Amino acid sequence: MIRTGAQYRDSIRGERDVYINGERVNDVTTHPQFKPLVDIRARLYDMQHEETSKGILTYTEGGETSAIGNKLPYSQTDWWSKRRATDHVMNKIGGVVTRVGDETVGEMWSLFDGAEVLNEIDPQFANNIETHISNVVKGDPFQISANTDPKGDRSKPAQDQDPDMLLHVVRETDAGIVVRGAKYETAAAYANQAFTKPTIANWGSEELSEYAVGFICDLNSPNLKFICRTGFAGRASAQDYPLANKFDEVDALVIFDDVLIPWENVLFYRHTKAAKFMRASLHRYTAFAFIQRNLKFADMMIGAALFNVRQTGLDKYQGVQEKLSALACYREGINAHLTAAIALAEKSPAGLMMPNQSLLYAGRVLACSQLHEVMHIARELCGGQICVTPDAATFHNPETKPWMDKYYTINDEWAAEDRRKLLALTRDMLNSDFAGHRLSFQLFTQSPPFAHLAAVYQNFDWDGPLAFVKDVAGLSDKVMGEQSLSSRDSAVSSWFSNDIASQTPETSVG
Ligand SMILES: Cc1cc2nc3c(=O)[nH]c(=O)nc-3n(C[C@H](O)[C@H](O)[C@H](O)COP(=O)(O)OP(=O)(O)OC[C@H]3O[C@@H](n4cnc5c(N)ncnc54)[C@H](O)[C@@H]3O)c2cc1C
Repeated sequence: MIRTGAQYRDSIRGERDVYINGERVNDVTTHPQFKPLVDIRARLYDMQHEETSKGILTYTEGGETSAIGNKLPYSQTDWWSKRRATDHVMNKIGGVVTRVGDETVGEMWSLFDGAEVLNEIDPQFANNIETHISNVVKGDPFQISANTDPKGDRSKPAQDQDPDMLLHVVRETDAGIVVRGAKYETAAAYANQAFTKPTIANWGSEELSEYAVGFICDLNSPNLKFICRTGFAGRASAQDYPLANKFDEVDALVIFDDVLIPWENVLFYRHTKAAKFMRASLHRYTAFAFIQRNLKFADMMIGAALFNVRQTGLDKYQGVQEKLSALACYREGINAHLTAAIALAEKSPAGLMMPNQSLLYAGRVLACSQLHEVMHIARELCGGQICVTPDAATFHNPETKPWMDKYYTINDEWAAEDRRKLLALTRDMLNSDFAGHRLSFQLFTQSPPFAHLAAVYQNFDWDGPLAFVKDVAGLSDKVMGEQSLSSRDSAVSSWFSNDIASQTPETSVG
């Protein structure tokens, strides 16, 4: 099933305890700071039904139509379809929006991959993962991600401070587990459900813990509170801050004040080994759509910077061209990682098609760790006028308009109003409070930079370079440790062969 925007709005209009700016929110669908994003999410649901979009955003199987973003990936074609769908959405809504579901739903596929391992640890929840994956395909809910707790003092175990600093189970009932704690969750106030799990990487020697719990949380559950950061929408005119007023994805501190999680929604519980396993593969699929956001954002920066230097004739200078090339290299670097991750996709333990893990995670480091530098180059190319230009009201006031027209009209193509619009967009993209927030979002929301690098460390095939150096230096086989000679040879040939085709895996594992 694919939902409509109206069905989505109805599903989030319940009795939620939502707070923002020190006030209780009656209806997130109409509140000025939530409405812009709710409208976008609703529009995405409606687009799935529209003639011009449904062929790109949906697929039909067994007579049932579902969202392409929710489809389990079994082939490279599935990944191209997902990539196309995400691009289509960004193009249609005219900007970059991240947490709208396609970039989070895949967290569950990682758990699907681990079902066998998780069953060995604790078979109690075996069927729940598959049921939830199927529920998403059939029910089309808006699912988000909940990982980060307030954490408190990291030098102490949670039990030695306020135990609620990390989310944990306080009791079991016949109906399910009761959990307490808090999580930071972007979009929680206007989403349907959150895959909730710990971020802890180091459990010490503990085998069982009430903190090792993962579940699907229905965001309409009683005893949840959503305490949101202040929004950017409505603070200043949309003409001056066009992005902040349309694309602000409001983050919330979600309080679990003894929330009942029905047993059928529990995905793992008590075993720290299960929590560790889940953590290691969490972004196996979701990093793809996340990085795609950096690509679209790079396109926005390139377009704005190029328009700006073209309209003032600066694009003729070699030094300016070099800076534009630096932006293009960043963009194409991300493009290359995403494209190669599909071209060299890998079969997952459960038979799904994973983007090539080493390339995907290296691409995430490239996209996130260089974003601030690239934003700075774009800022430089756009010049100081983005921060000194008066607001739209001044451009339109009869007393000041003639001066604005005089000094902001450049030639026949670029009249003052277009130049004002470009400068306003660029200011909001690179210089505003919203711009800083967006940079932090890409830096942190899919785990912090050190975790991005840890993912590279865990997924890069170190054996290839080791085997190569062993051969080049003429070292003895002993230096390779326990690895067999034949796998060393294949490591060398797979990493250093010029024949890409020999590395290309099956195109479909379906
Ligand atoms: C805009 C925004 C939206 C977010 N949305 C979500 C969301 O939807 N869901 C969600 O679950 N979370 C979300 N987060 C939270 C995000 O996942 C965390 O901010 C992130 O995991 C870092 O955790 P922290 O903020 O507690 O930083 P800390 O854990 O306090 O870390 C701060 C810094 O300390 C250093 N550090 C800490 N531990 C280590 C270590 N082990 N090794 C090396 N260096 C270390 C790093 O430099 C790190 O960046 C969001 C964050 C932002 C900014």
